[in-house]
Formats: sequence, structure tokens, C-alpha cells
Amino acid sequence: MKTQHSEAHFEDAKKWFPGGVNSPVRAFRSVGGTPLFMKAGDGCYITDADDNRYIDFCCSWGPLILGHNHADVRKSIIEAVNKGTSFGAPTVQENELASLILEHHRYLEKLRFVSSGTEAVMSALRLARGFTGRDKVIKFEGCYHGHSDALLVKAGSGLATSGRSDSAGVPEAFAQETIVLPLNDREAVAAAVARYKGEIACIVIEPIPANNGLLLQDKAFLSYLREVCTQEGILLFFDEVISGFRVGFEGAAGHYGISPDLITFGKIIGGGMPVGAYGGSKEIMGHIAPEGAVYQAGTLSGNPVAMCAGAAQLKACLVPGFYEELEQRTQDFVNRIRQHAEAKKYPFKVFSLASIFWLAFTDADRISAAHHIQAERMQHFKVFFHALLEKGIYMGPSGYEVGFVSAAHSPEILAEAASVFCEALDVVFADQMVSL
Ligand SMILES: *Cc1c(COP(=O)(O)O)cnc(C)c1O
Repeated sequence: MKTQHSEAHFEDAKKWFPGGVNSPVRAFRSVGGTPLFMKAGDGCYITDADDNRYIDFCCSWGPLILGHNHADVRKSIIEAVNKGTSFGAPTVQENELASLILEHHRYLEKLRFVSSGTEAVMSALRLARGFTGRDKVIKFEGCYHGHSDALLVKAGSGLATSGRSDSAGVPEAFAQETIVLPLNDREAVAAAVARYKGEIACIVIEPIPANNGLLLQDKAFLSYLREVCTQEGILLFFDEVISGFRVGFEGAAGHYGISPDLITFGKIIGGGMPVGAYGGSKEIMGHIAPEGAVYQAGTLSGNPVAMCAGAAQLKACLVPGFYEELEQRTQDFVNRIRQHAEAKKYPFKVFSLASIFWLAFTDADRISAAHHIQAERMQHFKVFFHALLEKGIYMGPSGYEVGFVSAAHSPEILAEAASVFCEALDVVFADQMVSL
């Protein structure tokens, strides 16, 4: 595999950007080697600067549910650009994307568009605080909600630990307002809610946690969150930046049939352009400026080019059978890999939901909380990742990342890819035999 061009570009990039990247997840820190510079995408394929072609399961970290450079999305972007790229005044494109979403989503009445998932979550959290007049927030260990100060906190597991930030530069006083609990643990939630009675503005959760492995929750746990929030006047906040429009048009709320008070979106909603959104009931959203007292604004919010890209993508998602087909393909694909791992008795599992999958080096049949992940096993992912690259498959460069299947991954390509995953597993475990 040639990597000269990527290596040269990375040397340049290191002069200009911290660590040579504009987002740390792109660095190959946990797998080793040089980040690959991508120059083109088409369907499920991406091509790097050295003309290596890969079947892509990163899909820009989830947004590209139709695959790269989808004809409808491309066309809508070009048409929009031809009319001008930004006005700083309302455009009908915002109405079009909003009505498309609100008419097909039972859990939302009003939306506000922003430009990233981080911005959506940060704004929705301010809204939760403004609406309830309370400061504290409960989050869960292993859930990522973007990089705003209040939520860049993981802390240890255990009951109602007040947070310490994962990042330098976050005042301890901010992190103190964030209570971090283990996922899928009702008792921990009950204890924290009792201890901080009347102080908690919201419970924020990725209802389908997919940023630290795929940590599927019991539906009963999510229903319990709904109950306790209603009882205690706490807002239930589903961060659906990944799961929104991914596990179904109505995301995790629709999948589990649970109605949150606030939902945030990003990724798929922009069709590959930078868009985020937050939404909820008319009553709650009425607290946002200029209607209400919670301020939030954005120069490029509701950008018409991004709105058109999002609308083109979401229209394709609304075609009857779209999600069923994608899920079926993903199931067939992951089952092939599972069968191979089982036949060979490898300590390896594939967890999946809809078109999201996580390749986990573990003996456990289920992992629903971050502290159950066997961190030392992540060493295997390095070998696995590079074996996959050599064989023409691209994944997010960390064992904690999930993979995404897009509508451009045909059953034939997925069958081919599954064989490659199996071969790469053989490489990993042959390696292990040698090192033993
Ligand atoms: C990606 C992500 C974010 C942050 O979105 P950005 O667009 O990267 O700022 C927030 N929450 C969840 C659940 C995410 O997956």
C-alpha cells in the first residue's frame, strides 16, 4: 500500500494545525501510522491521495447515510450555490427542511437550526437551564455530546460523582454542575435525583450510545428516565446527533417509542454539510430568543446550501422501505462476520442496531456501560485496522468507534467486505498466537 502522498501532506499539515489535524479523531493516535488524506468519495468508496480505494464504513462519522457524493444531494447543493451561498436573512430553504422534518417526526413541534452537533447540544442545554431555572445536568459515562464545557466531563463511575472535566480549560465550577452516572443503571439515577432534588435541569443521554462503542440500553432504563424526569420536573434530553434519521426517521425516540422533551440533531440532518438542530415542544422552544429569554444566534445558521443538502438526503430517507432495507443489509453483513468469529471461537463480537455496528474485542455477550469495555483488548484493533486498510476497507481509526452502513453499500459489496473483515480477524488472532 502506497502512502507517500498522505505522508507528505501530513508533514505539511503538522506545520499548520495542532497534531496536523482539524479534529483530533482524525489523527491516527490510537492505531499508529499516518492519517490518510482523502481526495474523493463516490457511493461507498473513498480514494486517498495515493489513489488507494477503500470501502468506507466511517461515512464521515455517520452523516452520509446515502453514501458519498449522492446524485440528488450533489444536484441540490449545486442548484442552491447557483443562487448564492448565504444571506443572513430568512430563506425558504429553512422552511422546506423544517417542514420535511416536523411533518414526519411525532416527537417535535419546533426546531432551531445551528451549524454543528456541538452547537445544538450546547444551546439545548442552555434552554433546559433557562426553562427550568435549574443549573445541574446529569450525563452518562461514555456518552459524547460535543465539546461544550458543561458536557466535556466523564468522571469516574459510581454514584453521583460530581464531574471533573476530560479537558484542560474547563473551569472546575462548570464541571461541578455536571453529574456523571454509569449507563443503564436505574439505581444510580434514582440516587442522584434524590440527592440533588430540585436542582437538576435535564438528563442528557445518547439514547443509542455510539461514541464509545455501541452501548445499547435497556428500553426499561430509557422509560425509567422518562418517568423520573416527568415526576421531578426534569427535562429528558435525547442527543440524537448520531441516532437521529439513522435508526429510523424518528431516531431513537421513534425506535423506543419514548417522547423526550428536547432532541438534538447533527450529522445526517445536513446531508454532509455542517448543520445541527435542536427541537422540542412549542412551549419549551418558546423560551428561545427572540420569543423567549434564552439567547442563541448564528451568522450562518440555516445556511441555504446546507439546508438543501439536508432536504435532499432526508427525502431519500423517507422513501418507504428505506430503513428496513438498510437494516436488513446490515444484519446480513454483520451476521457473516459473527458466524466466522463464532466458528473460530475468537473473543470478538459484533454489536449492531439498524445500520450502526461496533466490532468489539470482548468475550461479553452484551456491553451496556462504558466501564464494562475491556480496554486492554483494544490493542487488537490496531492490527485489525491496518489489516483492513491493506485489504481496502476504511473504518474510524479507533476501536471505540462504530461503523456505519450506507444505502450505497450494496449487498454484493457488503458480502465482499464481510469476507475481508473475516480475513483481517484471522490476521489479528494469528498474530496473537505468535505473540503468545
Ligand atoms: C458528533 C456528535 C456530537 C457533536 O457534533 P459535532 O457536529 O461534531 O459538533 C454531539 N453529540 C453526539 C451524540 C455526536 O455523535
